[in-house]
Amino acid sequence: MKRKIGISYTRTFFQNYWNWFSPQDLSDDFELVKLSFEKNNTEDIYKCDGFVLTGGVDVDPSFYNGESDYKNKPGLFQPERDRFEAKIYQHSQLHKLPVLGICRGMQLINVLEGGKLIQDLDNGNARHRKEESDKEHPIVADNNSLLYKIAGTGSGHVNSAHHQAIDPLAIGDNLKANAFDDDDEKIIEGLEFNDKTDKGFMICVQWHPERMKERDQNPFSDNLKKQFLSAVNAANLKKLTIINPATEEVITEVAEDTELSIKEKFNLLRTGQHQWASAGLAKRLECIERFYQSLDTERDELATTLTSEMGKPLQQSHNELKGARSRIKFFIDNSSRWLADEWVNTEGPTKEKISYEPLGIIANISAWNYPYLVGVNVFIPALISGNAVFYKPSEYATLTGLAIQKLLYQSGIPENAFQLAIGKGDVGEMLLQLPLDGYFFTGSYRTGKYIAEKVASKLVPCQLELGGKDPLYVMDDITDIDKVAGAALEGVVYNNGQSCCAVERIYVHEKIYDPFVKSYTEQAEKLKIGDPMDASTEIGPLSRKEQKDFLQAQINDAKEKGAVIVSGGNTVARKGYFIEPTVMVNVNHNMRIMKEESFGPVVGIQKVKDDNEALQLMQDTEYGLTSAIYSQNFERAEAMMRQINTGTVYWNCCDRVSASLPWSGRKHSGLGATLSYQGIRAFVLPKAYHIRDTN
Ligand code: NAD
Repeated sequence: MKRKIGISYTRTFFQNYWNWFSPQDLSDDFELVKLSFEKNNTEDIYKCDGFVLTGGVDVDPSFYNGESDYKNKPGLFQPERDRFEAKIYQHSQLHKLPVLGICRGMQLINVLEGGKLIQDLDNGNARHRKEESDKEHPIVADNNSLLYKIAGTGSGHVNSAHHQAIDPLAIGDNLKANAFDDDDEKIIEGLEFNDKTDKGFMICVQWHPERMKERDQNPFSDNLKKQFLSAVNAANLKKLTIINPATEEVITEVAEDTELSIKEKFNLLRTGQHQWASAGLAKRLECIERFYQSLDTERDELATTLTSEMGKPLQQSHNELKGARSRIKFFIDNSSRWLADEWVNTEGPTKEKISYEPLGIIANISAWNYPYLVGVNVFIPALISGNAVFYKPSEYATLTGLAIQKLLYQSGIPENAFQLAIGKGDVGEMLLQLPLDGYFFTGSYRTGKYIAEKVASKLVPCQLELGGKDPLYVMDDITDIDKVAGAALEGVVYNNGQSCCAVERIYVHEKIYDPFVKSYTEQAEKLKIGDPMDASTEIGPLSRKEQKDFLQAQINDAKEKGAVIVSGGNTVARKGYFIEPTVMVNVNHNMRIMKEESFGPVVGIQKVKDDNEALQLMQDTEYGLTSAIYSQNFERAEAMMRQINTGTVYWNCCDRVSASLPWSGRKHSGLGATLSYQGIRAFVLPKAYHIRDTN
């Protein structure tokens, strides 16, 4: 992919910056990206390999404790632009990416590094401030500077269009002036890092190289640009490639976190958690309420992003957003009650109460299959109860993670209360090294067990929502077989079969076995497989390439051991990670398909002679997430449900989660619970108060 140069948008003369990079400069190597505070396209920052911070309206004085009133102050400041560009700059520094700061861009960088500005040059305006056209004046470059090296000369002529300047008495940390106006005032004309060890390329200039006369001949324009481009080319950004599983095309690449950026983000969370906790519950709920609204306002874009990166049929992406909203609503409506102080004894000389305090900074390491649902189970109650969250979306749901972060920030969640860790398992691993106050993991048993072992010695809460091999049993008293077969099918194939609580194996009483299999198969064969962006598609691709081979291996194993495929069983002849909905009979528990989590639209249907045999088989698993029983007789079903060792049991339904009920797995399906009041209390520590009057 081409290297991307992010240019910050300015309402004044933006096109000059854009045009400065000619088609020859860019060739097949680079492309330009407009980073606009108006569009707030923060997600695009993560795709860029270098940045130009441009000129424009003065930096808001509140950013550097400057006077709010001064002679040439603009009609309106643009604090939203300052904040947006601060993000660009911070990101560039976390990843050591090249930066070119021009005019206001340089001034902003000085401010962000702790420096100040001369707010108005007064007499200096005669020499520097633009009138009909830019002013021009000579400069001298420090011959010990990077600028000097790049320009190849210590003097030259530049254009000038500013009334503010770098305060020589307040230059930002680790910055140094590299050029001065060549007159008595010695206005600072450029900045660069003083100590360049461990820093990316950065040159800042007060002039406008993008629009100076004879810019192609002037080394203070042309050499700068060329050096910047070669720095972008050499930038060593670790990138995550995002692939559309329906087309196998690369959607984009995104900056992955490094040890350094993770450490910096953690430091940020450390400064923010107490502020966030002391902001008060009402304020925190207000922010979450805004996030709740924004999931609806932005639903079309959010659903499209989700479908494009993990292949969920579009309609189901919309459903997921609706589901996430109803869970958030539950937390908004119920948190005050479960986080309030509880007076447990108000009689006698010693009164007693319990208060609930946030854990601190928690890790939310998440899965890709329902990034909104499994995400909000954790980060919403965690934030509401005053924790800071280090959220690691799955590498297969990164764009969704970025969208979540953007909406949370727009909703008022401070950046130092919520940060993303972007990358694969190695980035997740970095979170395990940090001294966090809790680990909340959603994903596979293998990774969950590893994480639990790894963080055990920290003695902080560690909750795991893991996989399942969820059984569904159909009793012989069922009369509407088509309806139950349809419900079971949906439980198997919804989300392309990639739900933690998907129906993974079906047991049917022998009396109704044949009609059940027939009905299930007929309905499965009617499912529409195809482009997940098409609103009528019911089965899209699997999200991960390896999963196709994994399922094929499970199917082959079963076939070799005597299973019969009554429908499907093959990959689909088209681009993308598609597999047919597959129905297998003559299956047994010696086959992987009946024991191992499949995570795809495949199922084995096994005949049983009675409830006892069904119960034995349902229990014959290392997992313990959910179990479903279909029957007309509640007592008969309940007798089985009581004995089944899963966190959730269903009567005449399946593959369902309710915000009011605890979501918990047993055995290899996990530890602890999210959702319900228990999923609020999971993010706080109780404190016992013994209160005795001195009298
Ligand atoms: P996974 O275990 O491969 O990855 C989950 C997360 O862990 C990802 O963000 C990944 O980058 C990270 N990770 C990987 N190695 C790590 C390491 N060494 N240290 C720290 N982090 C690491 O799981 P997945 O493929 O994303 O998700 C599918 C699994 O999740 C299935 O088993 C499914 O059943 C389960 N799941 C369970 C629930 C539930 O509520 N019980 C919900 C959704 C998914």
